[in-house]
Amino acid sequence: MNVAIIGTGYVGLTTGVCLAYLGHRVTCVDSDPRKVDALRCGQVPFFEPHLTELLAEAKSNLNYTIDYAQAIPTAEVVFIAVGTPPGQGGAPDLKYLESAARSIGENLGQHFTVIVNKSTVPIGSGNWVGSLVRTQSNGASFAVASNPEFLREGSALLDSLYPDRVVIGAEDARTSEVLYSLYRPVLEQSFAAPVFLPRPDGVAAAPLISTDLASAELIKYAANAFLSLKISYINEIGNLAEKVGADIRQVAKGIGLDRRIGGRFLQAGVGWGGSCFGKDTAALVATASEYGLDMPIVKAAREVNKKQRDRVVEKLLDELKILKGRTIGLLGLAFKPNTDDLRDAPAIDIAQRLIERGAHVRAHDPIAMSRFREENPNLRVTLTAAAEETAIDADALVLVTEWDSYQELDWEGVARKMRSAILVDGRNLLDRERLTQSGFRYVSLAG
Ligand code: NAD
Repeated sequence: MNVAIIGTGYVGLTTGVCLAYLGHRVTCVDSDPRKVDALRCGQVPFFEPHLTELLAEAKSNLNYTIDYAQAIPTAEVVFIAVGTPPGQGGAPDLKYLESAARSIGENLGQHFTVIVNKSTVPIGSGNWVGSLVRTQSNGASFAVASNPEFLREGSALLDSLYPDRVVIGAEDARTSEVLYSLYRPVLEQSFAAPVFLPRPDGVAAAPLISTDLASAELIKYAANAFLSLKISYINEIGNLAEKVGADIRQVAKGIGLDRRIGGRFLQAGVGWGGSCFGKDTAALVATASEYGLDMPIVKAAREVNKKQRDRVVEKLLDELKILKGRTIGLLGLAFKPNTDDLRDAPAIDIAQRLIERGAHVRAHDPIAMSRFREENPNLRVTLTAAAEETAIDADALVLVTEWDSYQELDWEGVARKMRSAILVDGRNLLDRERLTQSGFRYVSLAG
């Protein structure tokens, strides 16, 4: 099929490249000409494992442009994958969505087109996008569908090719059928897997949830809110574990092996970050309040998450008493490993709080440092080429992002470089005994 994708960020580009790999002809549109130029040269404008390789494999089916007129008139399916960043009062800012919808409307072809909201959008946005397109489109035949995205940065391609489920929200059978045909290779798992992204054992088909627009839109928010509260729940239990002398890792394992609960998203630590959980929980609370509903559970998850970042500073204060003039090294900047995404990254908040208290902050990240410098030109953080360099004459280290490479550091050597060998493990990642034997005072964020 002919497909247009609006927005070539983490979601849009992943979707475009995967659909091209499956045999569809895909034109990716982005308003940022630098991104389009880079993509035309085969360069992915952000870090995502294997995306460059898959893009190269699918390149005969891929085109890139800033011009809607080159993508929309021939497209049978148009995906909207633009950003929906946090706006005023918790509701997301929909200016990119609005602009994309209008431009699509101006360029629709003569045939029936399915316009798909893949961006995470407030409930009711499907209807709103439909009305925006209609005002521009001069009677063209189209329908709007919702196809929320559940990929995780860092494993975006695996999540897209082998999803836990595909959700399609549409108001008529014709629209659902178009999207069913588009996704058939994924739903039936009938495509040949890329050699570098083998099909996981046991994946034979992907379940399809075919539903109405509002339900599809709510599924996305409800899923993200649930994952957020799972993290906040284990952090709340972690704070109690610390008081009563329990080991939160054992507690998490003990409850996670219960299949009704499951072990994922039960790692206590500094809490969630990234572009989705904070924004989507705020949007859910804002939508509910429009209908006169309170959402105390989701609000509490947000509150607990905010406090976890304060706890890092509190732990450092407990250990060092005074932060003014101290040097603190941060290991990890990205909001999680295997991405360079820094949106709502805990490391940025923590660095800000430490700087406000007069500390000197050094930081390292295996992937995200150049992006950090670009996006935070005024934050006085000294970046170090190697993780070990954050430790030189430092008063404490904080492990903020659980990159694998940090597990392998020569911790004895790191401790020797420091003025005082204190490590606050913000992810409860490292082995307390090993760190203690290496000369550290090991401080975990929860029991
Ligand atoms: P992003 O910021 O990485 O990418 C958005 C892209 O859209 C940018 O390249 C921008 O230049 C482009 N753009 C903005 N306005 C445009 C316009 N009018 N026309 C053409 N291009 C335009 O965003 P993202 O992380 O890919 O997220 C996109 C959406 O998907 C958001 O709603 C987000 O909540 C949702 N989502 C994100 C993830 C994730 O992990 N990143 C996962 C699931 C859902």
